[in-house]
Amino acid sequence: KAQCGFGEAGVCCRICAMGPCRVSPVPGKGAERGICGANADTIVARNFARMVAGGTSAHSDHARDIVHAMHGAKAEGPFKIRDEAKLRRIAGEWGIEAADTKETYALAHELADMALQEFGKPFGTQRFLKRAPIARQELWERERIAPRAIDMEVTTLMHSTHMGCASDYESLFRRGMRTGLSDGWGGSMIGTEFSDTMYGTPPARPSSSNLGVIDAEMVNVLIHGHDPNLAEMVVLAAQNPEMVELAKAKGAKGINIVGMCCTGNEMTMRHGIKIAGNFYQQEMCIITGAIEAVV
Ligand code: SF4
Repeated sequence: KAQCGFGEAGVCCRICAMGPCRVSPVPGKGAERGICGANADTIVARNFARMVAGGTSAHSDHARDIVHAMHGAKAEGPFKIRDEAKLRRIAGEWGIEAADTKETYALAHELADMALQEFGKPFGTQRFLKRAPIARQELWERERIAPRAIDMEVTTLMHSTHMGCASDYESLFRRGMRTGLSDGWGGSMIGTEFSDTMYGTPPARPSSSNLGVIDAEMVNVLIHGHDPNLAEMVVLAAQNPEMVELAKAKGAKGINIVGMCCTGNEMTMRHGIKIAGNFYQQEMCIITGAIEAVV
């Protein structure tokens, strides 16, 4: 059950230091405006828009991290190109010359540089929008919600929803849609495509899931969180014969990487590691006493 009816209705505002202001969700009953004059429509729209900005920044910053890693990728690793066909396909899609023949890492660095521009370029819209059907692209153009640079959309939305700025709820929802699209067709799509390029496009593979995947006779490392670059390196380190020998020297049978939540799922689809659960079960994992580290 929701703890607060005002919060559930989205009519509590604490955007500025004059608040918090709670207005009534029922027209004609109770306080109808905050101190600055914002009504329930404006407050709900601003709160929702800021949730969109938060979600977009989380997905997209994750993507930026992956692209940064690709910008420094090299043949000897640890960050390297594993799906070269996909690298060349995206490079061709984005109009890089000689995408089929350029040296792999020169191409990867050029493509990563272009992807980083998608976050902050001052002009133009997201490159991946062209993947959508023409009718959809025309709709975005007509409604003026084709997303520009990702950071620009998040910043514009945070600015628009600040005290004393935009108050028309329709306009706020429209800006929220544009920001959400910068995530779906920008940050999230870049994150997926560039992860595949660097870590390999996942095939269907079997795995196991449950707290029972934690093995008392192994060194258990739980992968959690939001950083696939780090998780990939943990998986690589756990396969290093020197590390496995070290675990055995301490009396364990080996190293058991288990996953949790979204980054855990990513390691499952790319490496087949077993899933201990989602974040509702994170404390349960720890109280087994069998987890050596949560990363
Ligand atoms: S922005 Fe307006 S409604 Fe929100 S806390 Fe400040 S004064 Fe109150």
